[in-house]
Amino acid sequence: MQERVYNFSAGPAVLPLPVLEEAQRDLVALPGVGISVLEISHRSKTFQMIIDEAEANLRKLMNIPDNYKVLFLQGGASLQFGMLPMNLLPAGKSADYIVTGTWSKKAMSEAKTQGNVRCVWNGSETNFDHLPTPEELQANLDPNAAYAYYTSNETIQGVQFPTEPEVGEVPLICDASSEFMYKPLDISKYGCIYACAQKNCGPAGVTIVIMREDLVNASPDNLVSVLSYKKMSDAGSMLNTPPCFAIYVFLLVTEWMLKTVGGIDKMYELNKRKAALLYDVIDQSNGFYVGHARKECRSLMNVPFRTANAELEQKFLEEAKNEGLISLGGHRSVGGFRASIYNAMPLEGVQKLADFMEDFHRRND
Ligand SMILES: *Cc1c(COP(=O)(O)O)cnc(C)c1O
Repeated sequence: MQERVYNFSAGPAVLPLPVLEEAQRDLVALPGVGISVLEISHRSKTFQMIIDEAEANLRKLMNIPDNYKVLFLQGGASLQFGMLPMNLLPAGKSADYIVTGTWSKKAMSEAKTQGNVRCVWNGSETNFDHLPTPEELQANLDPNAAYAYYTSNETIQGVQFPTEPEVGEVPLICDASSEFMYKPLDISKYGCIYACAQKNCGPAGVTIVIMREDLVNASPDNLVSVLSYKKMSDAGSMLNTPPCFAIYVFLLVTEWMLKTVGGIDKMYELNKRKAALLYDVIDQSNGFYVGHARKECRSLMNVPFRTANAELEQKFLEEAKNEGLISLGGHRSVGGFRASIYNAMPLEGVQKLADFMEDFHRRND
């Protein structure tokens, strides 16, 4: 087998090596079943066990209260941009959007195709490098909104909410795609929290939605069935064929988190250590490296930065690649570099990048 390199891609992204190895080992024949998970009926007892166990592990890891449903859906996080207002934004009501980066901006513009939407805060003036203050939010939130929407980690700008915004009694909806399962949360604060799997918890193809029961039950009757949370939930996410393989790999990731990492508290500790390695190099570089997000809201998952001297960018990327550090190019809207250091990125990978950055600085100062 070719040696693996460290993959800092924003998504689809790095998966835990033990997960890949187990999927590979069992790919041709699941133990005790004799056929591949790729070939099995979603109506079989085996697949039912896979999806049930995936949900049970997730409930355990995230401590999800009983009055919340877990759904495994298709269409990516982007479908949720439309499905949420289709289900939860009735005529005569409006929804509040907190726009802190590319993904919340996109979610808001998609929601506008479905109903009345208010932008309560927009960080575009400074190219989304910070978050609203609680006071700015309080001044603008609508206490009668159908819901308040935010993106807990902006994957492109590397801006992350350290805690949930305070929105009173209004149901809080969160796109957690690029941080899902990175730290313990109090799920009871949310009306809904959702994530596509391919950033922090699995391969592309499945989107995990955790939603309070009363909101699930609020779906109007006139929707196409697969776009109704209520109908999908009543059918155990299997109104139609689910993304079986993606759900299976998600199950392996949850097992890895429970057994190898040792739970979500341990995961969080590790994630903090990893991010500190990179931010320390940036902060101690005397301006050689410049981070995008302001310090108080820097992401533990996506670290966008640049070199003050833009002429060094190509050289940095080429040399990093030669060291086995790949996919470090920044998004075109921010420029420079972006290191995505999701749950599955090992500490050694981040350490290697931090060492490379220091060495590159020394050689090019
Ligand atoms: C990647 C991403 C999306 C889009 O996900 P798709 O599954 O490609 O639709 C949405 N929100 C956030 C925060 C993301 O990182």
